[in-house]
Amino acid sequence: MSAFWKNHALATEMEIALAAVRQAGLLCRTVQAEIDMGALAKEDKSPVTVADFGSQALICRAIGEKFPNDPVIGEEDAAVLQEPENTAMCERVVGHVTQHITGADARQVCQWIDRGSAKDFSPRFWTLDPIDGTKGFLRGEQYAIALALIIDGEIELAVLGCPNLGDQLDADRGDGTILAAIRGQGTWQMPLVGEAEPTQVFVSTEKNPTRIRFCESVEAAHSAHGDSARIADRLAIAAQPARLDSQAKYAVVARGEAEAYLRLPRDNKYREKIWDHGAGVLCVTEAGGRVTDVPGLDLDFALGYRLEENLGVIVSNGPLHEDLLQAIAELGIGQF
Ligand code: AMP
Ligand code: MG
Repeated sequence: MSAFWKNHALATEMEIALAAVRQAGLLCRTVQAEIDMGALAKEDKSPVTVADFGSQALICRAIGEKFPNDPVIGEEDAAVLQEPENTAMCERVVGHVTQHITGADARQVCQWIDRGSAKDFSPRFWTLDPIDGTKGFLRGEQYAIALALIIDGEIELAVLGCPNLGDQLDADRGDGTILAAIRGQGTWQMPLVGEAEPTQVFVSTEKNPTRIRFCESVEAAHSAHGDSARIADRLAIAAQPARLDSQAKYAVVARGEAEAYLRLPRDNKYREKIWDHGAGVLCVTEAGGRVTDVPGLDLDFALGYRLEENLGVIVSNGPLHEDLLQAIAELGIGQF
């Protein structure tokens, strides 16, 4: 069997994206194996690591080489890295990148990172979270490398690398997992490390709301845990939520290991970032699932780097989506 993307118009994009996410995944694993993972405080105090920058550099370099006209809306830029007090950090980033790209220097690495600092919508662009779930990465738990290609506001291609996710949620992380999807071609899984045939994945077929297994953020600041508990109560959901960082939650729903992922807003000011959802959304919808915001609207990826018109995110296997939206509406969740 040949890979599902081989004869598709976006075959080159998929080959490049897969190779780049694999390379970035290896870099992240190497950094994670080091003792001090090089966290520094960004302006917003969220930890950002050598691996975030290294991952963004490798992926933006690969895209820039093959598709020089494609903007990349990524999470990081190189400004912090170029500050004099961060010279040592910058050297570490360059050291890791040169393990994959021989001879890369600091100037090039910063240029590659800054290739990913586009902010505005365009007819064709990529969106990248070089390490989604940085806090999970720092804890040695789940994180993801999330890359999506958006054309005319539609997510057309997604590659979601999950270096600490095994082929099942409770299995050893093994070689890590990559989920890949092209619109209309399904969602496929393969190990992050090594060559193995992709296998297609599908969402759960469960229709009984009491049997919903849902996942949510570890970080209570990112999703209202109290509200998800109220939904669970309302629908008489028996299972406790699985809490994991990053878009690994989308992977878990896409593989049918959970029926839902709830991201419930804590206020009506925060706007979700496109790089936190683009890749995950296509992986779930191509596996047969459904994604909306809390009021039930489709996510609109045509408005720049934020989901300006959406509030929170509800991900499901499909059949249980209306049950979740109804419970949310009845409980007044998201009505501020
Ligand atoms: P998760 O690992 O699912 O908790 O999500 C991690 C992502 O949450 C990060 O990449 C941030 O972009 C995003 N984030 C930061 N602050 C908030 C917030 N107040 N509400 C929702 N998401 C947030
Ligand atoms: Mg993120």
